[in-house]
Amino acid sequence: MRSYRRGISRPIGCEGIGLHSGAAVSIRFIPAETGSGIVFHRTDIGVTIPARYDHVVDTQLSTTLGIGEHRIGLVEHVMAALAGLGVDDVRVEVSGPELPILDGSAAEFAFLLACAGIIESDVPRSVIHVLRPVQVFEGNVMAELHPISVSEPGFPMALTIDFADAAIGRQHLALTMDAEKFSRELAPARTFTLATEIKALRAAGLAQGGSLANAIVVENGNVVNPEGLRWPDEFVRHKMLDVVGDLALACAPIRGRFIGERTGHRMNNRLLRALFADANNYRIITPAPVLAAVA
Ligand SMILES: [Zn+2]
Repeated sequence: MRSYRRGISRPIGCEGIGLHSGAAVSIRFIPAETGSGIVFHRTDIGVTIPARYDHVVDTQLSTTLGIGEHRIGLVEHVMAALAGLGVDDVRVEVSGPELPILDGSAAEFAFLLACAGIIESDVPRSVIHVLRPVQVFEGNVMAELHPISVSEPGFPMALTIDFADAAIGRQHLALTMDAEKFSRELAPARTFTLATEIKALRAAGLAQGGSLANAIVVENGNVVNPEGLRWPDEFVRHKMLDVVGDLALACAPIRGRFIGERTGHRMNNRLLRALFADANNYRIITPAPVLAAVA
């Protein structure tokens, strides 16, 4: 199925805080040349890092891109919004070492992109067609890609999570992701943390900007946030949002089926590295441009 590369029609941005630094940080989406891909640029130090899986240098708490000693952290929610809405070419400027957390979901990034106006070029979009199953696992954590027909619409995904805390427990979600499903079913799902982990993070100088305004906090079987959850299964929805963002670092839509069990940023990145490690696992399909009709 032919589709075309998309960008945005005008710059747009907002201010927020960094989850770990607690410092104010601004983000701006800038229209970029068709074919240039998604590129992050730190305006404070003048460093540019392409949004690519092999630039991932840390997956401890979020997905962090790096070149040399320079870092841009928490890229996954922005990448999810871009992939979810099908934006291929944009420059993302950020004023510090991590992207703003906003409300802990991808909804506000998706809102900004929609406000900027998403425009389609006349350049066909390449896709990565999965040709044979690829699996990574560690103990009971697993992530897989399976072949599907290249003409099958959307990105079929299935994910199971399992947490000891009864407020989360075992949750399963399966859906075929497209722009409409992303906006409605995944984008507003917020990140979450266990109250017991917050103390350790703070002691380590992390999560200084974390609050109930930008994460669901779970403690002893209860959701601490007074407003409650956006869905009963908001947790697995957020983890699927993270998968969408992490797999977007493949640099083109994946024509394959994703299946994950307890997977997180590290395994999502390992899955892409495993996919691209063997040229027999995939093929890049680049449709020929449509030639203008000759009168
Ligand atoms: Zn996340």
